[in-house]
Amino acid sequence: MQTELLKCATDVDADECLAGITTLINDRLAPHVLDIDIKGEYPAKFLHELGAIGGFGALVAPQFGGTGRGLKNAIQIIEAISRVCISTGFLAWAQNACAWYLQNSGNALIRNSVLPRIANGTALGGTGQSNAMKSCAEIEDNRLQAVRVGGGYRINGVLPWVSNIGTDHYFHVGVEIAQEPGLMIALLHGDHPGLTLSRNAHFIALEGTRTFACQFRDVFVSDDAVVAHPREFGNFRARTKSVFILMQTGMALGLTDACVNMMKRSNKTHGHVNRFLDDQVEDIEAALLEARTTCYRLADKITATPHGNHEHDTLTARLLGSELSLKAAHSAMLHLGAKGYLINNAAQRRLREAYFIAIVTPAIKHLRKELHDMDHGCGVCSA
Ligand SMILES: Cc1cc2nc3c(=O)[nH]c(=O)nc-3n(C[C@H](O)[C@H](O)[C@H](O)COP(=O)(O)OP(=O)(O)OC[C@H]3O[C@@H](n4cnc5c(N)ncnc54)[C@H](O)[C@@H]3O)c2cc1C
Repeated sequence: MQTELLKCATDVDADECLAGITTLINDRLAPHVLDIDIKGEYPAKFLHELGAIGGFGALVAPQFGGTGRGLKNAIQIIEAISRVCISTGFLAWAQNACAWYLQNSGNALIRNSVLPRIANGTALGGTGQSNAMKSCAEIEDNRLQAVRVGGGYRINGVLPWVSNIGTDHYFHVGVEIAQEPGLMIALLHGDHPGLTLSRNAHFIALEGTRTFACQFRDVFVSDDAVVAHPREFGNFRARTKSVFILMQTGMALGLTDACVNMMKRSNKTHGHVNRFLDDQVEDIEAALLEARTTCYRLADKITATPHGNHEHDTLTARLLGSELSLKAAHSAMLHLGAKGYLINNAAQRRLREAYFIAIVTPAIKHLRKELHDMDHGCGVCSA
């Protein structure tokens, strides 16, 4: 199987590779979904296998070990996984988001050494950018502060939640530097001196995502591990933001699709009474098709014109995805009734997962604030 899988990463077109990924999802992920949800199992093996068949390579240039298939391909992969499990869909997003920042770094050492291993899934990693994004949108203060010291930066602070990490994982963070505009983006390895990862919280879903609090105590990051310096941040942010956020819409598309299928199955036996519910499957399916078309089109546009400003369209598509997920999961739960209330039934899991899509940064309230600020010409990042 491994030889077959590896062949898929390089020798076949995007559609064939998606078919290979769907097979992997059905064979290797689907049987573990309950354990991931209820026992908090982390699907490490699946992630490594997915990486081996190009599941994390879409945003990475072939010269750095990626497939270079572009944003739509990344979204479709996250969507296919999320159809089965949002925990794992989110992990795939985090891995891609980690790769995307490294791909856009001006630091050749990072691009040549770490990026290829993230792109092929031999190394796993995430992103701790929620707080930085919220600070840019003037929602909260930046929790990581650093000072410039000889050959690098010294960081202090705490990030409450970062997923897809561990002592053998990588992740990047956005740090405020004393007396400098913009942020410094640093790449950390989980065993970095001065960094403590602790599991101090349990969640109603996404327990299998290895989500840790990260405490930085005088963490020295050398220039070799800097993804972007503060002076580069404005351009870096403009290049990376839309891809980072639109990719999350894959989670919404996959979850909504799964809810539509649940509703259709339920209607085979309970259509005569389900028809009295507020949100009918035909309407949700039509909204899904429209959201998918909009998202894929925008993804292709971003890939074709990476220097364009796609921010407003991206935030709008991401917001639509969150709202649709909540509506679809709520309706699926009502369609399935008591059956959906069972601990091993997907309907109640989907409802919990939909709330995650709505609250993970950028949350619904964050998206609406940024869109409001853009529409009214205020609240710009200090870069
Ligand atoms: C399962 C999970 C995985 C996540 N993974 C990541 C990730 O990989 N990378 C990343 O950068 N962010 C991650 N986050 C953070 C996420 O993106 C949001 O920033 C976070 O959920 C808060 O967003 P919000 O809009 O609700 O914030 P707000 O509404 O502005 O505030 C959140 C509230 O939570 C409270 N709070 C903060 N920390 C804690 C804590 N430790 N325990 C209890 N309450 C607390 C705050 O005081 C505040 O009241 C994750 C969150 C969750 C729940």
